[in-house]
Amino acid sequence: MKKVIIIGCGFAGLSTARVLSRQRRQVEVTLIDKKLNFNFLPLLPDAIGRKINTNFMVYPISDLSKRYGFRFINQDVYSVDLKQNKVFTLRQELIYDYLLIASGSETNFYGDNNTMKNAYKLDGAEDVKKIYLGIEEGNFSCYLIIGGGYTGIEIATNLRKRMSGKFDHKKIVIIERAASILGPLPEWMKTYVGKNLEKMDVGILLNTSIEKIEEGNIYLTNGVVFKNAMLIWSAGVKTGKFIEDLKVEKNPQGRIKADEYLRLTEDCFVAGDAAYFPYKKSFLRMAVQFSIMEGKCAARNIIDSIGGKNFINIHQ
Ligand SMILES: Cc1cc2nc3c(=O)[nH]c(=O)nc-3n(C[C@H](O)[C@H](O)[C@H](O)COP(=O)(O)OP(=O)(O)OC[C@H]3O[C@@H](n4cnc5c(N)ncnc54)[C@H](O)[C@@H]3O)c2cc1C
Repeated sequence: MKKVIIIGCGFAGLSTARVLSRQRRQVEVTLIDKKLNFNFLPLLPDAIGRKINTNFMVYPISDLSKRYGFRFINQDVYSVDLKQNKVFTLRQELIYDYLLIASGSETNFYGDNNTMKNAYKLDGAEDVKKIYLGIEEGNFSCYLIIGGGYTGIEIATNLRKRMSGKFDHKKIVIIERAASILGPLPEWMKTYVGKNLEKMDVGILLNTSIEKIEEGNIYLTNGVVFKNAMLIWSAGVKTGKFIEDLKVEKNPQGRIKADEYLRLTEDCFVAGDAAYFPYKKSFLRMAVQFSIMEGKCAARNIIDSIGGKNFINIHQ
């Protein structure tokens, strides 16, 4: 019986666990996650707009563990030793025959602790609850969303939806460091989105970022100062701390470079946001459908590796 450890019960890790659960005679699966619940992340911005109960966005991993027959350890992985096949949490060390790193990504504050202290983020259902509370207390005079990517725009439009009624008068502004929102999209799409944002009374400040935050005031690089604003940070993500410490090839977001079979080493696979690999002269962006596809591919390759069969190429 081979011991498989999966780090992360997101879309990738859970897909792997589901496929491996059909091979219970060959593998014993342990899934480690620092959260108690699987979080359905794409729903988070909509949840702000519709005030969806956060319980509908999460699912207990202990229930999934019973359903799919894996062991669940609710702990934070702080280190991995790829040479000795060991995973370390604060409370124990575990040995594996095969490892899948599927620990996803988290908000990147680029080392700016002051912004981190002052800003809201959107990494899980718990963060939505904090934003709800902030809105309901009604103390903020305006809302600033840092980052004009897909998620930033989704947050801004959902906030506007949420503000209809008594909060309607409050300003919502997207702050974007680049010269346009939605970076790589074609111009006509950016124009279309821009017009709709204008109709919704969502402002956009381009070529602008935060200069400093002091006594609740947010100073922008264009000289504008916002007082008493709720700051929601959506300006990029990175992989977690234990990946930072791994001495392996990574891209600027800290995603681990894998081969076309999703292997980092002979017995360590990577999938989802934590991974990147050559794909049609580029690489896949962070998204649910790719994470699921990669999770399934990694599972099949773990099984094939145990059975001495040829691996499945992610391009197939
Ligand atoms: C607000 C938001 C909106 C999004 N909207 C969309 C969308 O509309 N469409 C789309 O395709 N994608 C969307 N995405 C991206 C998508 O959610 C991710 O690409 C996807 O969740 C990645 O899956 P994953 O399994 O790699 O990681 P995740 O789903 O992030 O899961 C990783 C898991 O690993 C656990 N973990 C992390 N570090 C550790 C550790 N050290 N120890 C133990 N456990 C750990 C985490 O707790 C988490 O449960 C959105 C993301 C966000 C944040």
